[in-house]
Amino acid sequence: MDSAVAEFDLIERIRRRVATRDDVLLGIGDDAALLQPPAGMQLVVAMDTLNSGVHFPPDTAPADIGWKALAVNLSDLAAMGALPAWCTLSLSLPEANGEFVDGFLDGFLALASQHDLALVGGDTTRGPLSICVAVHGFIEAGQALRRDGARAGDDLWVSGTLGDAAAALSQWQSGDAMDPALRVRLDRPTPRIPLGRALRGIATSCVDVSDGLLADLGHVCKASGVGALVDVDALPASPTLRSGFDADARRLLQATGGDDYELCFTAPATSREAVIEAASTHAPVARIGRIVAGRGVSAVDAQGVAWQPSVAGFRHFE
Ligand code: ADP
Ligand code: MG
Repeated sequence: MDSAVAEFDLIERIRRRVATRDDVLLGIGDDAALLQPPAGMQLVVAMDTLNSGVHFPPDTAPADIGWKALAVNLSDLAAMGALPAWCTLSLSLPEANGEFVDGFLDGFLALASQHDLALVGGDTTRGPLSICVAVHGFIEAGQALRRDGARAGDDLWVSGTLGDAAAALSQWQSGDAMDPALRVRLDRPTPRIPLGRALRGIATSCVDVSDGLLADLGHVCKASGVGALVDVDALPASPTLRSGFDADARRLLQATGGDDYELCFTAPATSREAVIEAASTHAPVARIGRIVAGRGVSAVDAQGVAWQPSVAGFRHFE
């Protein structure tokens, strides 16, 4: 910030609202945070940046930006099976706008408190609107859900529903009003932390769907040295998506649209009941295909006919 007073004021607004935890020995206010990781746990660290006009429409409400900036990060912890603990926040703001920061914190801290997550530090600078969050969590040693554990014969699963966020974005891009039920999925994704925790010891691999199912599944296949066969007509869809989009549009949104933040994971076929039992109190899960020997991701429709997307992966909007 040009003015040290403005920067101090913003940091003070943040500091007085954050919750703390016993393992935060020093939080906001010193040169760095001092944190006490629990014995026997591994530290899991992830970071994601949201830029205005690239990762959210410029007219997004500050509280929704705050929620999403944290949600996309927590989703990465969920995909590892980790338990969230701490986060840091780098805010680049065009001007020292206290109202924006207050609104931002409404969304950010609402989600943080759901996960007993403490904001322990950050940085505040002037520049184009951009938010960078780093999250830190814990995982029992050796229990992390990685991308490289999928094996041929495993079932392929996904949580929740796919395509709603991309559908909202497609409405926004074509100048239509966004359906509120779709927009809430774009603005306020639900990080699947409890599901990720429940899948420890059951899932052989896991990834969160941020760039589109087929693209993210491609990373799993590459890391695991396997292929995947997806049934595009088995992808779970919300009632709003089903009623508002025809089958072709729906398949494209669900298979290639971004911003779902659901978990896509693999597990041996012998673990079907264990998966359903583990997921039952946390999130709906659907079986959407299987892991096969070979390379790459292919998709078929309900008739078994090969299905090819006209685009691969998520296209940032401008
Ligand atoms: P320094 O000049 O030593 O880097 P700063 O003035 O940048 O200190 O930050 C002062 C304190 O406020 C530090 O503890 C820092 O982590 C915290 N802080 C700064 N910006 C933020 C922010 N956006 N969110 C949370 N904490 C912040
Ligand atoms: Mg600093």
